[in-house]
Amino acid sequence: MPEKNRDCLACALASSRAPPPGGTLLRTPHWTVEHCVGTLGLGTLIVKPLRHITGVHELGVEEGAELGPLLARVTTAVRTAVGEECEQVYVCLWSHAGRVPGHIHFVVQPARTADIDRHGGAYGPGLQTAMLDEGAEPEQSAVEEFCARVRRALRD
Ligand SMILES: [Zn+2]
Repeated sequence: MPEKNRDCLACALASSRAPPPGGTLLRTPHWTVEHCVGTLGLGTLIVKPLRHITGVHELGVEEGAELGPLLARVTTAVRTAVGEECEQVYVCLWSHAGRVPGHIHFVVQPARTADIDRHGGAYGPGLQTAMLDEGAEPEQSAVEEFCARVRRALRD
């Protein structure tokens, strides 16, 4: 198993200690994909390395080689699972909670028409900030249903 940090939520979610909502969606030799916890909306996925690393500069050659194709595959699956309402898929990485570098995780977020309209036309980082401020977490049943659609899309 890759090295873990016992105090890290990302490591806990990637292990059996605290499984993520909707379960693990995809595992590659070096990466794992799961639904986001928190308030970035239904269908926002996390792509993170199995190894506890806190900067993209720490990625090994094999980890880096998997990343591009994986992000393309996951983004395609999110578009498919969301459907017509998906105006764009944001892919970003902050991993800097409390100004401390944390376990890196790419956020793969569908920008839905309904979310943009509800937040006065905000998009990009403005939409993310509005959603974080709003603090609405998706229903567990909706997350599970979305994850089932993503799994189907990843198989196709
Ligand atoms: Zn970690």
